[in-house]
Amino acid sequence: MGENADDLILGIDLGGTKILTAVTDSQGNMLSREHSITPASKGRETVIQSILDSAHSALKQAGIAISEIFAIGIGAPGISNPETGILFTSPNLPGWQDVPLRDIIQSRLGKKAFLINDANAAALGEFYFGAARGARNFIYITLSTGIGGGIVIDGKIYSGAIGAAGEVGHMTIDDNGPICNCGNRGCWETLASGTALAREARQQIKEGVRTSILEYAEGDIEKVTAQVIHSAAEQGDSLAKELIARTGYYVGVGLANLINIFNPELIVIGGGLSNIGDMLLKPAFKTAGERAYKEAFQAVRFASAELGRNSGVLGAAAFGFREMRKSLRK
Ligand SMILES: [Zn+2]
Repeated sequence: MGENADDLILGIDLGGTKILTAVTDSQGNMLSREHSITPASKGRETVIQSILDSAHSALKQAGIAISEIFAIGIGAPGISNPETGILFTSPNLPGWQDVPLRDIIQSRLGKKAFLINDANAAALGEFYFGAARGARNFIYITLSTGIGGGIVIDGKIYSGAIGAAGEVGHMTIDDNGPICNCGNRGCWETLASGTALAREARQQIKEGVRTSILEYAEGDIEKVTAQVIHSAAEQGDSLAKELIARTGYYVGVGLANLINIFNPELIVIGGGLSNIGDMLLKPAFKTAGERAYKEAFQAVRFASAELGRNSGVLGAAAFGFREMRKSLRK
């Protein structure tokens, strides 16, 4: 493992709240793994410096010099073009507009780098090393504070005309629904994410609905999260159970759309909210089954993501490895 310098990749998973950096080999074995906080509110240069610091410590931890690295793969949130390496915009990184992130990292670290959307990176991680191994046509979704996605068609990530494909969280589910971070109304993630679940619970609590949810949030309505609601539901709180089932229903509406459009053989579901499990996913699958074409629904298999928080960093590394290989063949 890792004796061949052509085999070592530096993977970077830049998120709105955390930066994960790892030195891996092409088989997805991690030689080191660095975790730090994204200082998103401190602006772009501070974040970039944090990425570089994180990269240097991952290299140091693995005992590897940057010269021994084959390539760098970066997964970043928001809309980015893998061809140009430009991050157009990112709701999670305030002030980032048209940032040539790939070239910045490349020149500051002195090694060829490749940029991909974070959810697409996670999809690739699951494709190469996780729940989607062997699948040719699948969709990865991450149910978290928002909803991200990656679409793999014929074994390749589908990135669209400018790299913006796979933004499944922003398909419109309710044209009059809640306002989304993207500016639209009623996007899937405004109805089926952890943020949506918490927002609904707060609303019901404010309206005086009887529930024990607040007891699990130290009596502080601001501390009501999806996790807190899940705890209350597990103890039998009926509002909590109802809200999770309703969120599951909306998860299912979106799944039905994806199934009808893409006819995937597999949908891999990851993200913190999906850890709720059956209470959320049973109503989701039921709704998807009721709404999607019967034949397409029967053809799809659902699986939980296997790589947890490492899917993005491993996928970014695998992307960097393959793109580098491709560029050398040209
Ligand atoms: Zn949206």
